[in-house]
Amino acid sequence: MAKWPIGVFTSIDAGLGVKLEVAHELGIPTIQLHAPAKETRTAENAEAFLQKLGELGIELTCVFGGFEGESYADIPTVVNTVGLVPADTRAARTQEMKEIADFAKLLRCDTVALHLGFIPHDTNDPLYAEVLDVTRDVLDHCKANGQNLHLETGQESAEGLLQFIQDTGRDNLFVNFDPANMILYGTGEPIDALKKIGNYVRSIHCKDGTWADKPGEEWGQEVPLGEGDVGMENYIQTLNELGYTGPLTIEREIPQEPERQKAEIHHAVSLLNEIKAKLA
Ligand code: MG
Repeated sequence: MAKWPIGVFTSIDAGLGVKLEVAHELGIPTIQLHAPAKETRTAENAEAFLQKLGELGIELTCVFGGFEGESYADIPTVVNTVGLVPADTRAARTQEMKEIADFAKLLRCDTVALHLGFIPHDTNDPLYAEVLDVTRDVLDHCKANGQNLHLETGQESAEGLLQFIQDTGRDNLFVNFDPANMILYGTGEPIDALKKIGNYVRSIHCKDGTWADKPGEEWGQEVPLGEGDVGMENYIQTLNELGYTGPLTIEREIPQEPERQKAEIHHAVSLLNEIKAKLA
């Protein structure tokens, strides 16, 4: 793969990404895919999707797990509904995450990712050990599939995430770095966080956002790439210094406005190509 191929976050029937056709129309060569709904994760659908990717010349680089009942309405709701942290859905979702990894394997994809949820900051909290346990369970399943697992950033500080990764004691856990999430959740200045966690960054999102008045208590705002507080050129330059050469995967989470979503992704592609040309 050439250095820094452009990518885009896509969805089939679940999640907030764009349709595969949008990636094709914009000439984007790689995608991450939000895992399709449970009913459609069949071997036949995997085969058909692979064939379509082949026809379009698009490479799948990562399958993102997501679960019914997750809501990103506000930060307290994320705490209660997202990922493998909430207790009442944990066992079922851990099982489902393994099924998603198996579906990714059918798609010949060696990388799966997810929002784990809010990991307790206090490593002595019993919940911390419980989340470690299920994460190891998923990691071992992925390992048997020949896959790595990437944790999406946002809900933890860089230090918290580093600690958690090391505490799993596994060698197939890495980071999907999303700089805007650090701002949206108020968990840290994104470039500083990236430098701290850089050794584990194996995939990234290109997304932008602005800080909330009360970071960590209320949401910041996701905005078009280049218009927020990330500083895209500084971001890509920092990735360059870290030796990151993988896809630059654009994420713009406004599926309720598909025309605007497509136009803004188009603009993001141009912006990233300009930065690439400057830094190459
Ligand atoms: Mg993201």
